[in-house]
Amino acid sequence: MTKKRIAKEHINAFLARLLEDYIVYAPAEEANYVTFRQITAPEEVVWDCLVTRKPPKDVVFPQTETLFTYTKDADVLRLQSMEAVEKERILWGVRPCDAQAMLIQDAVFDTPEDRDVYYTNKREKTWLIGIGCNQPLSTCFCTSVGGGPFKKDGMDLFLTDIGEAYLAEALTAKGKRLLHGRGFRRATKADLKASDAAEQTALQRLPAPMSMDIIKQHLDGMMDSPFWDEIQATCLGCGICTLLCPVCYCFDIVDEGTTTCGQRVRNWDTCQYSIYTLEASGHNPRPGGRQRVRQRLMHKFNYHLVNQNLVGCVGCGRCVQLCPVNIDLRQLLAEIGAAE
Ligand code: SF4
Ligand code: SF4
Repeated sequence: MTKKRIAKEHINAFLARLLEDYIVYAPAEEANYVTFRQITAPEEVVWDCLVTRKPPKDVVFPQTETLFTYTKDADVLRLQSMEAVEKERILWGVRPCDAQAMLIQDAVFDTPEDRDVYYTNKREKTWLIGIGCNQPLSTCFCTSVGGGPFKKDGMDLFLTDIGEAYLAEALTAKGKRLLHGRGFRRATKADLKASDAAEQTALQRLPAPMSMDIIKQHLDGMMDSPFWDEIQATCLGCGICTLLCPVCYCFDIVDEGTTTCGQRVRNWDTCQYSIYTLEASGHNPRPGGRQRVRQRLMHKFNYHLVNQNLVGCVGCGRCVQLCPVNIDLRQLLAEIGAAE
């Protein structure tokens, strides 16, 4: 594995060179938030943001995406697919939890049976340059769900802040190529030691991991529990917890247009909306908040494990931070874990 030392005063020059060859997305300000968006200059990067408002999933699975357009002239119908992706992209400054979430999305959108070309075409041209979390937030719980503040799964290149420099580790052939020929020094033993120390310090800041196996087992018997009534009494059904979750991948498809032109559009959707499961007959298998809040937790912490052997949560804490009525997922999981 290639490990190099990039002095902090050289990091913007490195990024500037990448911007010459790639479309680069990074945590940057937009309106009043720090979100993952395309940047045009290194100075736009917000380095100290661990949890962006929109997760990087937006780059490969956009909030709104035109799948194809159509025009009809006389009797001739012309379709234009929007699936092609020309230029390679770099996601700069991806946190380990968000990279882990992209691996979960890969397992959904890219299976041996079904390849979603709108997703996979973007994903195949997307390289991840991650960065470790020296100071996890009070809302982070990645170690409870198989992650960690310096976990490198899914990354092509990984940066660790070691004080006056970054330790840059190339984890794939793509990552190696990104570092190649840039004139960076080889990492020293002291650099590797500083990286280990940063990881240990970060791990100590995180809460003791919860057992997902116990939570899954308890959920097996909670279909009819009054627990869901308690949550739904507070939940507004706004959907923030799912729409901005880096793992959630539900979408809706709508046709917009007239008889002569228009487009088919895919939009993020959420199981927290009543219309999500409303059938054309008028029947709704999840008619109330009780069924919807139950679905959110059952899917992430039970069905997902059964179907994909993965927890449907990476512990980023976005839903904890952003729920307008302070429903705290960590607290719910602790209650489920402690249930008799
Ligand atoms: S963010 Fe909070 S209020 Fe909104 S749907 Fe999720 S749990 Fe309910
Ligand atoms: S469920 Fe909440 S904590 Fe887990 S990945 Fe989604 S937003 Fe993050």
